[in-house]
Amino acid sequence: MSADHTAVVTGGASGIGREICRAFGEVGVNVVVADVREEPYEDVPSVADLFESLDGEVVHVQTDVTDEETVDSMFESAVQRFGHVDILVNNAGIARFGSVTETSTEDWHAELAVNLTGVFYCCKHGVPLLTRNEHSAIVNISSLYGIRGGVGNFGYSVTKGGVAAATKQLAADFAADGLRTNAVVPGFIDTRMFHEDTPDGTEQYAVRHTPQNRLGDPVEVARVVRFLASDNASFVNGQILPVDGGFTVI
Ligand code: NAD
Repeated sequence: MSADHTAVVTGGASGIGREICRAFGEVGVNVVVADVREEPYEDVPSVADLFESLDGEVVHVQTDVTDEETVDSMFESAVQRFGHVDILVNNAGIARFGSVTETSTEDWHAELAVNLTGVFYCCKHGVPLLTRNEHSAIVNISSLYGIRGGVGNFGYSVTKGGVAAATKQLAADFAADGLRTNAVVPGFIDTRMFHEDTPDGTEQYAVRHTPQNRLGDPVEVARVVRFLASDNASFVNGQILPVDGGFTVI
């Protein structure tokens, strides 16, 4: 990973995605923020404002990852602006909670569309660009519920498990083309999604069951994403790495 590299970060406007954009900008990587919204959910500076004091350049391309045409044209804009795409971070995601009998058909399709079909569209249109380079990387954002069970998380678990499976499949199919694919499994991270899209009591549960006894900061996830995308992880491929304060070991 070097200063002339370009990263596409889906869902990059808020939360974990915003910190991933910042982490790339800190080392001079140019970033395409592919998000349906431009402003963060939180009352914090936008990615464009952050980049005023960073080395990389940033462009926001309004993108709905569930819409294949906008994904395709987002990658075209990325190439027009920066010439190449070296890194893809599939971070856009939504969470709806409920067991299978509690999940509405509408919520099921919404989670499937953003969390899984969005990854499919971004890889389908991104991989041909990534593999033009000698070295490139995809980092997917899965979830604890994608690698283990969780009460009342049917749609979210199934889709995030699919993201983990997609990671291994991509790693096997494109390693020979210089493309490494890995996934990060964030634990309980202090973002809007964690506070607004989880049932009451989740924060107490999360802190109690995390050996480090706290929520994770989005920055702590972003640094691991940057590592996996970098040449420091040049022989890491197809791995699903928890960043969870030890939640998965107890
Ligand atoms: P968030 O809700 O704060 O941010 C999600 C971002 O994705 C938003 O900017 C939103 O606009 C964007 N987005 C949503 N739908 C989109 C679409 N159709 N097209 C493009 N962009 C879209 O959430 P977050 O906590 O930052 O989560 C980021 C990722 O991390 C998600 O994939 C989430 O499932 C995963 N994750 C989060 C946690 C956590 O505790 N916060 C834990 C595990 C995994």
